[in-house]
Amino acid sequence: MAVVEFALPDSVSTILKPDEDILPTDWTERHRILTDRDAGEPGPFRYDGTPYWIEPTNALVDPRVGTVTVIKASRCGGSELLKNVLAYSIDQRPMPTSYVLPRDTDVTDEFRGALVRMIENSPRLAAHKLPGTWATETSLALDTMLVSAAKASTPMDFIRRTFGLNLFDEVDNCEEQAKSSRLGSIWTLLLERLTTYRHRGKQFGVSTPTTADAAAWQAYEVSDRRRYWTPCPYCGVYQVIHFETLWLMPGFEEIRDPDLITARNLVRHRCENPDCGGMVPDGEKLWMTQRGIWVPACQKIVGTLDVDSAELVARSHFRTPVADRWTPPLKGDAPITRNRGYWLDATVSPWRTFSEILAKFFATKDKPRDYRVFVNSWRALAWREAAQTANVSDLKKRLAGAHAPDVIPARAVKLICYADVQDNRLEYGVAALGPGEEIWLIKQGVAESFEEVEQVAFNTAFPYEDDPDQHLTCELLGYDSGGHRTFESYERWAKRPHEIVLTKGSSKGDMAEKWTLSHVERYLNGQKKPTGIRLFIVNTGIYKEKAYNLYQREGHGPGTFHFHRETTQGFLDQATSEEYVPLKRKKQSKAKYAWQLKTEGRRNEGLDIIVGLLFMADRLNAKLLPTREVLRARASNPLPATTSGTGGGIRMPDGRPFLATRRR
Ligand SMILES: [Zn+2]
Repeated sequence: MAVVEFALPDSVSTILKPDEDILPTDWTERHRILTDRDAGEPGPFRYDGTPYWIEPTNALVDPRVGTVTVIKASRCGGSELLKNVLAYSIDQRPMPTSYVLPRDTDVTDEFRGALVRMIENSPRLAAHKLPGTWATETSLALDTMLVSAAKASTPMDFIRRTFGLNLFDEVDNCEEQAKSSRLGSIWTLLLERLTTYRHRGKQFGVSTPTTADAAAWQAYEVSDRRRYWTPCPYCGVYQVIHFETLWLMPGFEEIRDPDLITARNLVRHRCENPDCGGMVPDGEKLWMTQRGIWVPACQKIVGTLDVDSAELVARSHFRTPVADRWTPPLKGDAPITRNRGYWLDATVSPWRTFSEILAKFFATKDKPRDYRVFVNSWRALAWREAAQTANVSDLKKRLAGAHAPDVIPARAVKLICYADVQDNRLEYGVAALGPGEEIWLIKQGVAESFEEVEQVAFNTAFPYEDDPDQHLTCELLGYDSGGHRTFESYERWAKRPHEIVLTKGSSKGDMAEKWTLSHVERYLNGQKKPTGIRLFIVNTGIYKEKAYNLYQREGHGPGTFHFHRETTQGFLDQATSEEYVPLKRKKQSKAKYAWQLKTEGRRNEGLDIIVGLLFMADRLNAKLLPTREVLRARASNPLPATTSGTGGGIRMPDGRPFLATRRR
């Protein structure tokens, strides 16, 4: 084999000869040096304290991944993740890169400070500096690629450019800063710009959460929602260490003084395996996190680590080469989304003790503003912007200018119906949906039978307010099958499975999803059934909160909710019957909030109906509904019918020929 004899400049040969298949995290440990300005422990970067960042970082080179959203507490080492992804990209995977930061000052700090230090302290990265002024306040010019600062406060500067890698630091603050530009979500806009790079394009976002409506949480919700499972050092059962697993030591359960709790180190992680219940001290935390694995929400760990086997314990360590590493078997299908999501609260951080975290809770729980910071930055949870109570007289004042009942307002394009099933009656509501999820309640009523509700939903042509010749019937009817006459509602569903949805409310406080789908696999006589009934378990807390937030919004347009002008005081009372209050629990130290009736025995069917309608609107993606004009244009210009090759007579549900099967 001929050898070509000429020397390339160092920097060019580096580009041409990347380390073979080196993973971003291996590269980082080899080439990144931390200074004492950037870390408590200066020196080569190591993952021993934060092994949970390995998988999210290496997602950069995983072809199955398009976006990575990291929801984390502060002080878990999350912002290093973006820097490591950037450092590796400069050396190994160059692409035009945007580094999105919330404010001008953040950009200056990073582009004048931390990023420059990162490059200059690593000989490997420093070799990529272009001669002359390579680092400015808004860009880093390297021989492999350009890194552009993107200030979220002025998104017009970068939104039209094309990048292959977008790095977002503090996604929610970025979105907040970008709001005034009226461009919409810059997370979504920049994601669209990646398409030029197809499967190589990646977007990474790291954020402490703010609210459930904000971009970071939304991005996490559409991801595969991974959590970090670690084995108990005593019983080997895998579990997620998080705030709810922290307990005061036996004998000290009544202590509430934050200083005493930290000074005497009174808090442990209590093993979630009831047969073990081991109280795990901070000293064992690293042992656990170094044996942890990320598991997506759609999968479950089915095995335990045999803690008596020195061999398995050693092989479960994250440093074990992949081929030899022991990890527990998983049950369930692998996720199909290209959106990866990772969630971590402060408990796994090597820089926080269990006692500090619980002490912080006791120190903040009665101060709303501080408590919110605790929830966001320590528990890494979205703050529920609960309009915690709603005022009937405010709603009543607005009725005068509202739409008429039984007719469809001009902007609406769809109708839905939802019924709360009681023993002797069904209480229902019909809502019209418009673009941007504008919702009008156009009818409420009480029916004696399922047939009567279905008559209203499917056989009643509601006229448009501005054009009585135009009509709509309901597209979807929901039954609350949770409490009463469950099997009857299953039977109704079996007759029209595409037009009826069954729901059951869940008020489980820690349910993160807006809904989950469950399959009821029993015949009406109680026998198991091979193909079951589809039942949506709806997180009623989220929709009650949404309802109360909607009640507070005045005016018209996207994201508003309207009662019709003849809505009764009684219905408004029901629609506002609950409030979000802390539960009083004697035994446990933690404040739990829950939706409860304002007064005992008060009727709340109205609120249940609205919650059901909001769930169905969400399910139908009402935020993305087209306008009536668009629908009209579509109706008057149907797709041209094909004149040849009608695909053997196979037709789409709307009667058009099925084109995919067309042959010459
Ligand atoms: Zn245990």
